[in-house]
Amino acid sequence: MLFQDPEFQKLLLLHSRDRRYQKLIEELEELPKDLARMDKKIEIERESVELAMAEWKDLETLNNTLEKEILSHNDSINRQRNKQLEVKKNEEYQALENEIANLQSKIDGLENQQIEVLLKIDGARETAELAQGKITERVEEMQAQRDKRASLGEERKTEVEELKSEIEETRKEIEPIFMSTYDRVSKIVSRPPYMAPIMDQKCSGCHLRVSNDVVSSVLVEKKITQCDQCGRIVYVER
Ligand SMILES: [Zn+2]
Repeated sequence: MLFQDPEFQKLLLLHSRDRRYQKLIEELEELPKDLARMDKKIEIERESVELAMAEWKDLETLNNTLEKEILSHNDSINRQRNKQLEVKKNEEYQALENEIANLQSKIDGLENQQIEVLLKIDGARETAELAQGKITERVEEMQAQRDKRASLGEERKTEVEELKSEIEETRKEIEPIFMSTYDRVSKIVSRPPYMAPIMDQKCSGCHLRVSNDVVSSVLVEKKITQCDQCGRIVYVER
Protein backbone atom coordinates (compact mmCIF):
# COMPACT_ATOMS: atom_id res chain seq x y z
CA MET A 1 0.00 0.00 0.00
CA LEU A 2 1.11 3.50 -0.80
CA PHE A 3 0.22 4.67 2.68
CA GLN A 4 2.60 2.14 4.21
CA ASP A 5 5.42 3.02 1.84
CA PRO A 6 8.23 4.50 3.99
CA GLU A 7 8.80 7.18 1.35
CA PHE A 8 5.17 8.20 1.54
CA GLN A 9 5.37 8.23 5.34
CA LYS A 10 8.28 10.65 5.05
CA LEU A 11 6.13 12.85 2.85
CA LEU A 12 3.38 12.77 5.48
CA LEU A 13 5.93 13.73 8.10
CA LEU A 14 7.11 16.63 5.97
CA HIS A 15 3.50 17.67 5.50
CA SER A 16 2.78 17.72 9.22
CA ARG A 17 5.93 19.79 9.80
CA ASP A 18 4.96 22.19 7.04
CA ARG A 19 1.53 22.61 8.58
CA ARG A 20 3.00 23.31 11.99
CA TYR A 21 5.46 25.74 10.41
CA GLN A 22 2.68 27.60 8.61
CA LYS A 23 0.64 27.81 11.80
CA LEU A 24 3.59 29.19 13.77
CA ILE A 25 4.33 31.76 11.10
CA GLU A 26 0.72 32.95 11.18
CA GLU A 27 0.82 33.08 14.96
CA LEU A 28 4.03 35.11 14.89
CA GLU A 29 2.52 37.53 12.41
CA GLU A 30 -0.27 38.15 14.92
CA LEU A 31 2.16 38.71 17.79
CA PRO A 32 3.02 42.41 17.28
CA LYS A 33 -0.67 43.22 16.78
CA ASP A 34 -1.60 41.28 19.91
CA LEU A 35 1.05 43.05 21.95
CA ALA A 36 0.01 46.46 20.65
CA ARG A 37 -3.61 45.67 21.50
CA MET A 38 -2.62 44.66 25.04
CA ASP A 39 -0.46 47.77 25.46
CA LYS A 40 -3.38 49.93 24.39
CA LYS A 41 -5.67 48.28 26.97
CA ILE A 42 -3.09 48.84 29.71
CA GLU A 43 -2.75 52.45 28.63
CA ILE A 44 -6.53 52.99 28.82
CA GLU A 45 -6.64 51.54 32.33
CA ARG A 46 -3.80 53.78 33.45
CA GLU A 47 -5.47 56.81 31.91
CA SER A 48 -8.69 56.08 33.76
CA VAL A 49 -6.80 56.20 37.07
CA GLU A 50 -5.16 59.47 36.07
CA LEU A 51 -8.55 60.84 35.08
CA ALA A 52 -10.10 59.95 38.44
CA MET A 53 -7.12 61.45 40.27
CA ALA A 54 -7.32 64.64 38.21
CA GLU A 55 -11.04 64.98 38.92
CA TRP A 56 -10.41 64.69 42.63
CA LYS A 57 -7.54 67.19 42.48
CA ASP A 58 -9.64 69.69 40.52
CA LEU A 59 -12.35 69.56 43.18
CA GLU A 60 -9.75 70.13 45.91
CA THR A 61 -8.47 73.16 43.99
CA LEU A 62 -12.00 74.49 43.60
CA ASN A 63 -12.56 74.03 47.34
CA ASN A 64 -9.38 76.00 48.09
CA THR A 65 -10.48 78.82 45.79
CA LEU A 66 -13.87 79.02 47.48
CA GLU A 67 -12.20 78.97 50.88
CA LYS A 68 -9.97 81.90 49.94
CA GLU A 69 -12.90 83.90 48.55
CA ILE A 70 -14.89 83.34 51.75
CA LEU A 71 -11.92 84.45 53.86
CA SER A 72 -11.39 87.55 51.76
CA HIS A 73 -15.08 88.50 52.03
CA ASN A 74 -14.90 88.00 55.78
CA ASP A 75 -11.89 90.33 55.88
CA SER A 76 -13.90 92.91 53.94
CA ILE A 77 -16.77 92.62 56.40
CA ASN A 78 -14.35 93.21 59.29
CA ARG A 79 -13.00 96.28 57.54
CA GLN A 80 -16.51 97.67 57.02
CA ARG A 81 -17.34 97.03 60.67
CA ASN A 82 -14.25 99.02 61.70
CA LYS A 83 -15.26 101.84 59.41
CA GLN A 84 -18.74 101.83 60.97
CA LEU A 85 -17.11 102.67 64.28
CA GLU A 86 -15.60 105.79 62.77
CA VAL A 87 -18.45 107.22 60.68
CA LYS A 88 -20.66 109.91 62.17
CA LYS A 89 -23.54 110.14 59.74
CA ASN A 90 -26.37 107.73 59.89
CA GLU A 91 -26.60 107.31 56.08
CA GLU A 92 -22.89 106.49 55.88
CA TYR A 93 -23.37 103.86 58.59
CA GLN A 94 -26.35 102.47 56.68
CA ALA A 95 -24.37 102.34 53.42
CA LEU A 96 -21.68 100.26 55.15
CA GLU A 97 -24.40 98.08 56.67
CA ASN A 98 -25.76 97.42 53.16
CA GLU A 99 -22.29 96.50 51.91
CA ILE A 100 -21.87 94.11 54.82
CA ALA A 101 -25.23 92.47 54.07
CA ASN A 102 -24.23 92.19 50.43
CA LEU A 103 -20.92 90.53 51.33
CA GLN A 104 -22.64 88.23 53.79
CA SER A 105 -25.05 87.01 51.14
CA LYS A 106 -22.09 86.36 48.84
CA ILE A 107 -20.45 84.35 51.62
CA ASP A 108 -23.65 82.36 52.12
CA GLY A 109 -23.71 81.53 48.40
CA LEU A 110 -20.05 80.51 48.44
CA GLU A 111 -20.54 78.37 51.52
CA ASN A 112 -23.42 76.51 49.88
CA GLN A 113 -21.21 75.93 46.87
CA GLN A 114 -18.44 74.72 49.14
CA ILE A 115 -20.71 72.18 50.84
CA GLU A 116 -21.57 70.71 47.44
CA VAL A 117 -17.91 70.60 46.47
CA LEU A 118 -16.95 68.91 49.73
CA LEU A 119 -19.59 66.23 49.16
CA LYS A 120 -18.26 65.70 45.63
CA ILE A 121 -14.71 65.50 47.00
CA ASP A 122 -15.73 62.59 49.23
CA GLY A 123 -17.14 60.73 46.24
CA ALA A 124 -14.22 61.62 43.99
CA ARG A 125 -11.65 60.56 46.58
CA GLU A 126 -13.39 57.24 47.05
CA THR A 127 -13.58 56.69 43.30
CA ALA A 128 -9.95 57.66 42.77
CA GLU A 129 -8.67 55.44 45.58
CA LEU A 130 -10.78 52.55 44.41
CA ALA A 131 -9.64 53.04 40.81
CA GLN A 132 -6.05 53.24 41.92
CA GLY A 133 -6.26 50.04 43.95
CA LYS A 134 -8.32 47.92 41.60
CA ILE A 135 -6.85 49.17 38.37
CA THR A 136 -3.28 48.97 39.56
CA GLU A 137 -3.94 45.35 40.35
CA ARG A 138 -5.60 44.81 36.97
CA VAL A 139 -2.81 46.60 35.14
CA GLU A 140 -0.23 44.37 36.83
CA GLU A 141 -2.22 41.33 35.76
CA MET A 142 -2.49 42.60 32.20
CA GLN A 143 1.19 43.44 32.14
CA ALA A 144 2.01 39.90 33.27
CA GLN A 145 -0.20 38.48 30.52
CA ARG A 146 1.46 40.70 27.99
CA ASP A 147 4.93 39.61 29.08
CA LYS A 148 3.84 35.98 28.94
CA ARG A 149 2.56 36.46 25.41
CA ALA A 150 5.82 38.14 24.41
CA SER A 151 7.99 35.37 25.85
CA LEU A 152 5.79 32.72 24.23
CA GLY A 153 6.44 34.58 20.98
CA GLU A 154 10.18 34.25 21.56
CA GLU A 155 9.80 30.52 22.16
CA ARG A 156 7.83 30.24 18.95
CA LYS A 157 10.58 31.99 17.03
CA THR A 158 13.08 29.40 18.24
CA GLU A 159 10.66 26.62 17.35
CA VAL A 160 10.22 28.05 13.86
CA GLU A 161 13.97 28.03 13.33
CA GLU A 162 14.27 24.44 14.51
CA LEU A 163 11.34 23.37 12.40
CA LYS A 164 12.80 25.09 9.37
CA SER A 165 15.99 23.03 9.53
CA GLU A 166 14.00 19.86 10.25
CA ILE A 167 11.91 20.53 7.15
CA GLU A 168 15.05 21.00 5.07
CA GLU A 169 16.44 17.71 6.35
CA THR A 170 13.21 15.84 5.68
CA ARG A 171 12.98 17.23 2.15
CA LYS A 172 16.44 15.86 1.34
CA GLU A 173 15.34 12.36 2.32
CA ILE A 174 12.26 12.23 0.11
CA GLU A 175 12.16 10.78 -3.41
CA PRO A 176 12.32 13.52 -6.05
CA ILE A 177 9.11 12.36 -7.77
CA PHE A 178 7.19 12.68 -4.47
CA MET A 179 8.88 15.94 -3.71
CA SER A 180 8.07 17.54 -7.04
CA THR A 181 4.39 16.52 -6.83
CA TYR A 182 4.22 17.84 -3.27
CA ASP A 183 5.78 21.17 -4.23
CA ARG A 184 3.47 21.54 -7.22
CA VAL A 185 0.42 20.84 -5.04
CA SER A 186 1.55 23.29 -2.37
CA LYS A 187 1.65 25.99 -5.03
CA ILE A 188 -1.83 25.12 -6.36
CA VAL A 189 -3.47 24.81 -2.95
CA SER A 190 -1.48 27.69 -1.42
CA ARG A 191 -2.52 26.83 2.15
CA PRO A 192 -2.10 23.53 4.02
CA PRO A 193 -3.33 20.84 4.11
CA TYR A 194 -1.67 19.79 0.86
CA MET A 195 -2.38 16.12 1.60
CA ALA A 196 -5.71 14.63 2.56
CA PRO A 197 -6.96 11.13 3.28
CA ILE A 198 -9.88 9.80 1.26
CA MET A 199 -12.84 8.84 3.43
CA ASP A 200 -16.02 7.32 2.00
CA GLN A 201 -14.62 8.10 -1.43
CA LYS A 202 -14.49 11.79 -0.48
CA CYS A 203 -11.34 13.90 -0.35
CA SER A 204 -11.15 15.17 3.23
CA GLY A 205 -9.39 18.31 1.97
CA CYS A 206 -12.24 19.63 -0.19
CA HIS A 207 -14.99 17.24 0.98
CA LEU A 208 -15.93 16.40 -2.61
CA ARG A 209 -16.30 12.96 -4.09
CA VAL A 210 -13.25 11.72 -5.96
CA SER A 211 -13.56 9.68 -9.15
CA ASN A 212 -13.11 5.90 -9.30
CA ASP A 213 -9.94 6.53 -11.27
CA VAL A 214 -8.47 8.41 -8.31
CA VAL A 215 -9.40 5.61 -5.92
CA SER A 216 -7.97 2.99 -8.22
CA SER A 217 -4.77 4.98 -8.73
CA VAL A 218 -4.30 5.10 -4.96
CA LEU A 219 -5.38 1.61 -4.04
CA VAL A 220 -4.55 -0.50 -7.08
CA GLU A 221 -1.72 1.29 -8.84
CA LYS A 222 -0.38 2.61 -5.50
CA LYS A 223 0.76 5.81 -7.13
CA ILE A 224 1.04 9.28 -5.69
CA THR A 225 -2.32 10.72 -6.72
CA GLN A 226 -4.05 14.07 -6.63
CA CYS A 227 -7.72 14.80 -5.89
CA ASP A 228 -9.42 15.50 -9.19
CA GLN A 229 -11.43 18.29 -7.50
CA CYS A 230 -8.92 20.33 -5.48
CA GLY A 231 -5.55 18.96 -6.55
CA ARG A 232 -4.43 17.82 -3.07
CA ILE A 233 -2.42 14.63 -2.73
CA VAL A 234 -4.89 11.99 -1.59
CA TYR A 235 -4.30 8.65 0.08
CA VAL A 236 -6.14 5.95 1.94
CA GLU A 237 -5.06 5.30 5.51
CA ARG A 238 -4.38 1.56 5.29
ZN1 LIG B 1 -10.00 17.43 -2.86
